[in-house]
Amino acid sequence: MSKLYFYYSAMNAGKSTTLLQSSYNYIERGMETLLFCPKFDIRYGNPKITSRIGLSQDAILFNEETKFFDLIEVKKEQIQNLKCILVDEAHFLKKRHIEALVAVTTKLNLPVLCYGLRSDFLGEPFEGSKYLLAWADELSEIKTICHCGKKATMNLRLDESSNAVIFGNQVHIGGNDTYVSLCRYHFDYEIEKSKSLFKENARS
Ligand SMILES: [Zn+2]
Repeated sequence: MSKLYFYYSAMNAGKSTTLLQSSYNYIERGMETLLFCPKFDIRYGNPKITSRIGLSQDAILFNEETKFFDLIEVKKEQIQNLKCILVDEAHFLKKRHIEALVAVTTKLNLPVLCYGLRSDFLGEPFEGSKYLLAWADELSEIKTICHCGKKATMNLRLDESSNAVIFGNQVHIGGNDTYVSLCRYHFDYEIEKSKSLFKENARS
């Protein structure tokens, strides 16, 4: 039986770089890998996972309907020496996706490496992360730091005026918002500041 791994972190910790490096380690030894990601930038042509330091590799897009087990079973027949499955932005996975990936590790005997965020811009767990944290055989944190130097564990969403966003959907595609990784102290500080601002504006 192979293992399910969850590498979790805050935003901008270099998850995609770590994923691509892991994949490269297999390829360098003559083994094949299969990569999945939830969305891609159309400017780059074929779906790819790219990292800020310039690495990239072709990937298969997943969405709510993706049947991971069936798809990977077919790919295992087609690709000689397929040895590892890697999933980027795994927090976007659904519970049933992770059930399927667990089956990939046990029935197809392929290791599955998932990379994703633990929590959203309000500190709530993503569905994917919740079940990965619960079911992964191995958990590993990819660390990044807050502006204060402490470990960043939270993801703050900022609006155009650089105020913390305190309402809205977990997934916000196509917005102009940016994210910063913060320690929980500074995350709470920014959220409280935005809440006070909101109350003040509501009164005036
Ligand atoms: Zn801090």
